[in-house]
Amino acid sequence: MAVEMHAGLASEGGSKLKMLLTYVDNLPSGSEKGTYYALDLGGTYFRVLRVELGGQKSSILDQYVERQPIPEQLMSGRSEELFDFIAESLQQFVEKGNDSEQFSSRKELGFTFSFPVKQTSVSSGILIKWTKGFAIKDMVAKEVAGGLQQALVRKGLNMRVTVLVNDTVGTLALGHYHDADTVAAVIIGTGTNACYWERTDAIIKCQGLLTASGGMVVNMEWGNFWSSHLPRTSYDIELDAESPNSNDQGFEKMISGMYLGDIVRRVILRMSEESDIFGPVSSSLSSPFALTTPSMAAMHEDDSPELTEVARILKGVLEIPDVPLKARKLVVKVCDVVTRRAARLAAAGIVGILKKIGRDGSGGITGGRSRSDIKMRRTVVAVEGSLYTEYTMFREYLHEALHEILGEEISQHVIIKVSEDGSGIGAALLAASHSSRS
Ligand code: ADP
Repeated sequence: MAVEMHAGLASEGGSKLKMLLTYVDNLPSGSEKGTYYALDLGGTYFRVLRVELGGQKSSILDQYVERQPIPEQLMSGRSEELFDFIAESLQQFVEKGNDSEQFSSRKELGFTFSFPVKQTSVSSGILIKWTKGFAIKDMVAKEVAGGLQQALVRKGLNMRVTVLVNDTVGTLALGHYHDADTVAAVIIGTGTNACYWERTDAIIKCQGLLTASGGMVVNMEWGNFWSSHLPRTSYDIELDAESPNSNDQGFEKMISGMYLGDIVRRVILRMSEESDIFGPVSSSLSSPFALTTPSMAAMHEDDSPELTEVARILKGVLEIPDVPLKARKLVVKVCDVVTRRAARLAAAGIVGILKKIGRDGSGGITGGRSRSDIKMRRTVVAVEGSLYTEYTMFREYLHEALHEILGEEISQHVIIKVSEDGSGIGAALLAASHSSRS
């Protein structure tokens, strides 16, 4: 991971890791003050948020979040319709709120847009491609924030899109707001991605990049990481070949919530085809994504002596009735192996980032100093996403692997902190720290 990070920073297209510039060159410190808004668009739901910042050390006085589904026809219509819908929701949200100075001064807005974007500044960027079911053709290769800004003007909203970020950057911002030792953020939910704080002189592909802080957040797009060292099985190869984006997002396909359940389903399918422990092969078992990751987690974490939850899911979801206890135990073991591999890969990725920035106790990738010479600084990694927050075994295996790779002494200084709702709140905080007034 550390080597690929170097390659992605050295030249455009130098690695499967895109290592995208974000132009976020300062992170919220806790001293921000005032009312800021954010829009979070990245999936089936979009969220409108308002935060009131106290100006004292990291005090969020009030925060208000509203979640709404995106009407399906807007996901493949015209960009103007989508932006008008978003602006309309924002307008209603502002009018409902009790922001006393709402009409007197211009408000700053953070826009979390979690699709691949080539940033041109901290507040603008060009959509590379749509993912997650969106298909608004006239927006591809166009500037994203400009379209929203025009819709805000059409609605007569006195607001400026101050920052355009993706969800990992928002998570890092919220983490840093509460704890200045936060250097990286990782999301492990439906998909997976990470970003971190990098020195500008290490971003070789962008010669002469200067920022007042000397650093910038880099969006790794780590879901697309690939290496011949990854423990790829025939199940991974088949899952990838049958996916609409084969040869892409290889790391994500081994780690994230969208895929883990399906890897388990493929293993059980093979067992069912090659033995008779599950009886005749059920048609549900052959159906892609029939087993979701939450169902897999429920089987994995079934602690009843008779594994009744495993039996219930096998019968109810995969239509395999009357599975003997011995075979149910085997299913739990399969869930365990798949989750353990995913969590350990995610942990290894985190250590890769720490290694790249010299926070793994080895003094950086080119450093020759021994571990005992280094005074390890406290290092915080912000994490968001249901796989980490909701799946206990995943979380425990991730911690165990971090501990194992870093060793007892160094891992004491590495803290994983949940950054709840970071993707949206973080964007509002970044609007504050990048606003014209701060
Ligand atoms: P996002 O879609 O924004 O990434 P989340 O972080 O909530 O949202 O992640 C959702 C993913 O997490 C789903 O794909 C689901 O597979 C997985 N997930 C949700 N709850 C659980 C759970 N209890 N155990 C395991 N996986 C879960």
